[in-house]
Amino acid sequence: MRIAMICDRFTPQSGPGAGEANGLSVHVGELSAALARSGHEVTVYTRRDGRRQAPTKSDEGYRIVPVPAGPIRRLAEDELVAHMGAFTQYLTDQWRDSPPDVVHSHYWTSGLPALFADPARRVPVVHTNHGLGAVARRHRKPADPDPTKRVSSERLISRSVARVVATSAEEVRELGRIGVPSTRTTVIPSGVDIDRFVPDGPATRKRLPHRIVTVGRLLPRKGLAELVAVLPLVPDTELVIVGGPERRALGEDPEAVRLRELAKRIGVADRVQLTGQVPRDRLPALLRSADLAACVPWYEPVGLVPLEAMACNVPVVATSVGALADTVVDGVTGLLVPPRRPRTLAAALNGLLTDPVKRSFLGAAGRDRAESRYPWRRIAEDTVRVYEQCVEQAAARSERSGGPVFATRSAHR
Ligand code: UDP
Repeated sequence: MRIAMICDRFTPQSGPGAGEANGLSVHVGELSAALARSGHEVTVYTRRDGRRQAPTKSDEGYRIVPVPAGPIRRLAEDELVAHMGAFTQYLTDQWRDSPPDVVHSHYWTSGLPALFADPARRVPVVHTNHGLGAVARRHRKPADPDPTKRVSSERLISRSVARVVATSAEEVRELGRIGVPSTRTTVIPSGVDIDRFVPDGPATRKRLPHRIVTVGRLLPRKGLAELVAVLPLVPDTELVIVGGPERRALGEDPEAVRLRELAKRIGVADRVQLTGQVPRDRLPALLRSADLAACVPWYEPVGLVPLEAMACNVPVVATSVGALADTVVDGVTGLLVPPRRPRTLAAALNGLLTDPVKRSFLGAAGRDRAESRYPWRRIAEDTVRVYEQCVEQAAARSERSGGPVFATRSAHR
């Protein structure tokens, strides 16, 4: 199939323009790579933000096209929307004579051009939200950006596209609340590179008897402060926090500063290490050095890190939210705890850190689960099935009406 991925803020993890890892870019890159490996022709359309000027072919076999839309620098989410019209026009021009078979958009800002770029509505659009503004709003602090535009756009996109690929069962329930019937959604989780994240191989050196590793962007909602705060209750244990800006820039990162101050205040500064951004090829060694991986956000739409830890045979302590409630099987591949409950979290961490036999059982079961359910090859196969269904439905509808494929798009509103 000719597949057009749309991800306005895509950062490839290798090759030209490679940069900071985050779940959205890892997901789009890995899915595109797996689809390209299966023989599909994949183009990722992203916004030209200065890191790439011209179309390139990635090392993994998919094309990356930087779309001229707005200033050539990184833009905040709210600023982006003003330039999505130009993005839409670019796609419309590209696809006029030679449309793709299917469009798959990622995140709400990309869903808008996906929805409007093909005015003749010949091509079915599949959309992945990668989190919902309605959920983000529940956890929002007064200082955070107001997700109003996001919430209404997600409602419009999710009700209008041919299919929403949700990344967790919880997302399907949340979509139901904004009027998207479950019949129009398919759950396909994120995957894991089971050849990169493997149990055997070098591991970085521990300084204390026990090590907890956590990986991800440095955001308050990731629950990192909670992890630091429980360290006084978890003896002989170091906490390694991976992610955020490069190490030398951590001093200017507000969350890194907050975490370091907290660690100092409660007397655990010597047990907390912030590494800053770590390239993907160094992550497996860091994960393997851990007695357990902790992933304790307040909410989590996708959550790749628990899968990466599981693939390395490392048990996971995770909060029972979003995708984590699906990927981590409580008592089998790790332990699930409620978010923001320090005593319960400390008990779970201590319970595992003091029980090496249980850790090895949970770790091995994690690898089994990662191998059987989450390889990107399998995620790509499931995704192609959705594409094929949407293409068939679109063709049938077009035949019946003798007109545009998506005559019913607005009927779902
Ligand atoms: N990651 C990485 N290096 C880092 C921090 C993160 O390679 O220094 C990767 C991590 O392995 C995972 C992704 O970035 O694949 C983060 O995805 P997730 O959805 O778990 O977290 P988020 O994007 O919300 O931070």
